Amino acid sequence: MCGSLTLRSLVKCFVPLFWMFISFSSYAKSGQYCMADWACVEKIEKNKQVSYWLYNKKPFVLTVTLEIDTSNLKTSSSNQRKHIVNQVLQGHQRVKVLDLQAINTNRKIWYDESFYWAPGNMLAVHQVDYVYQYPYAEDDYYPIVQGFGGGFSHRGASEYAVDFAMPVGTPIYAARAGVVIDLVEKNTRGGASRRYAKYANYVVILHGDDTTGEYYHLKKNGVTVTRGEVVKAGQKIGYSGNTGFSSLPHLHFAVYQAKPFGKYQSLPFIFN
Ligand SMILES: [Zn+2]
Repeated sequence: MCGSLTLRSLVKCFVPLFWMFISFSSYAKSGQYCMADWACVEKIEKNKQVSYWLYNKKPFVLTVTLEIDTSNLKTSSSNQRKHIVNQVLQGHQRVKVLDLQAINTNRKIWYDESFYWAPGNMLAVHQVDYVYQYPYAEDDYYPIVQGFGGGFSHRGASEYAVDFAMPVGTPIYAARAGVVIDLVEKNTRGGASRRYAKYANYVVILHGDDTTGEYYHLKKNGVTVTRGEVVKAGQKIGYSGNTGFSSLPHLHFAVYQAKPFGKYQSLPFIFN
């Protein structure tokens, strides 16, 4: 049915990219650097050798990128100045990802790291024949006001998203089973400008194929599930709203796959 999703009217809707980023300089030679509750880089420097581990603090899969600019450092297989590690970390997994050593031990070494993460699995293969339920009560109908490729905001990472116009407070139901991995419900603000994007309330559900279903613009305190909760398709997860970058009350729903460098890409899917 995805071919039938069309732009019927403009709705301003923007989902903030979920990526996070940290950069730290090398004056702290060894230590652990964490992205809040999500993931950590651990680094040990000794005798002009530097080793890196990545650690997932969450019980579910994350995709992490570690990017290191270096001078006078090499791996056993490469002496490029830039080293990029893209790593899928299962729940609570800790992995050694890189050993660097001085090219010339008589010279100083230098390095500078950046670290990105996104929930989900960059290697996920979306189950393309999975039939998603509409994310509202079975007997209800809400018009799609922006579909796949919608000209206002469904481009790039959110190309395959769907916006349903619905009154604030409409019960929202999971379109597919999974585990609730993230939610925000404290926000009150919304409006037709990108500066409101950071005020969106939402629920993110990790599916069995490691893609995520994301439900945006929920009302304040409009989430009825908790982090870590296992939900069935058709289970109530919250109430719609108009928070974030949103010009009219609606629900933004899309299926996303994590990408390297903390990025995301939406994926085509079908409703029943
Ligand atoms: Zn949207």
